Amino acid sequence: MTEPLSYKYLFGPVPSRRLGRSLGVDLVPFKTCSTDCVFCQLGSVDHCTTTRREYVPLVDVLGELERWMAVDGRADYVTLSGSGEPTLHTGFGEVLRFVKRRSDMRSVLLTNSTLLHLPEVRRDAAEADIIKVSLSAWDQVSFEKVNRPHPELNFDRMVDGLRALRAEYCGTLWMETFIVPGLNAHPEEVRKMAAVAAGIQPDRIQLNTAVRPPAEEFVQAVPPEYLQKLAGFFTPPAEVIASFQPGEKAFTLLDETTLSRLIARHPATAEQLAHMTGHSEAAVQNLLAQLGEALSKSERNGEIYYKAAD
Ligand code: SF4
Repeated sequence: MTEPLSYKYLFGPVPSRRLGRSLGVDLVPFKTCSTDCVFCQLGSVDHCTTTRREYVPLVDVLGELERWMAVDGRADYVTLSGSGEPTLHTGFGEVLRFVKRRSDMRSVLLTNSTLLHLPEVRRDAAEADIIKVSLSAWDQVSFEKVNRPHPELNFDRMVDGLRALRAEYCGTLWMETFIVPGLNAHPEEVRKMAAVAAGIQPDRIQLNTAVRPPAEEFVQAVPPEYLQKLAGFFTPPAEVIASFQPGEKAFTLLDETTLSRLIARHPATAEQLAHMTGHSEAAVQNLLAQLGEALSKSERNGEIYYKAAD
């Protein structure tokens, strides 16, 4: 069996409460994004850009997928996500078409919504079985505070793109709203976001908050009961997805490369890493100690989270 560490652009499959086993595909270099969200769990974005190009060779990504499908395990979903914004890659639609053509796995596109005003991005996004978009603001000012977009990006144009996507797309549209106390958590602010969301008509709305260490220290998590109250402001009522739930054990191999790649994309506690990899917490702790300076630690709600050192 081919080992997970031989893949450069694929990660996982990681267990997901909603998507079962999800194979991640990473199409841009680490922290390459069109926004620099205050809540980003990858830390501060290195390359804030709206330039679309072939950031990593498409042929290599498709080659890895082909090899993974042929010799490795299987997954319920293939998810375009990872180290930044996948729609920045000009070939993301080709990856989705490849998955559809060559497998019976379903596909998910996670996007920050900022490039959906481009018809070619919407056309390619529509190849996904599920598109999960983000909306955590209600106007340009709040967009700039919460998501810190590239200067070329405009909130109203992004919402127009989201509405156009809904009109054109026959698949399942999910929306994630990230709640940040002090920026968009006041009931009046949430009602404004809910009004924008209602105009987009997603099939499902998910509320999240900073349970993992975010880019900015000032970003705190909203208590679960408050998040639950805010969920009722949305139509359809939102679902709270903030709490980490251990899922199916996915990895069979545990080594420094696998663990450090996983942590780079999913900052997590040792206990969570043990659940995700299917190994004991002691084994994970042992490996974390070996990774030493390649890791940074931060405390969140009394728990130690590990992430890649800057
Ligand atoms: S949270 Fe997502 S959209 Fe926001 S900066 Fe991080 S990678 Fe980009």
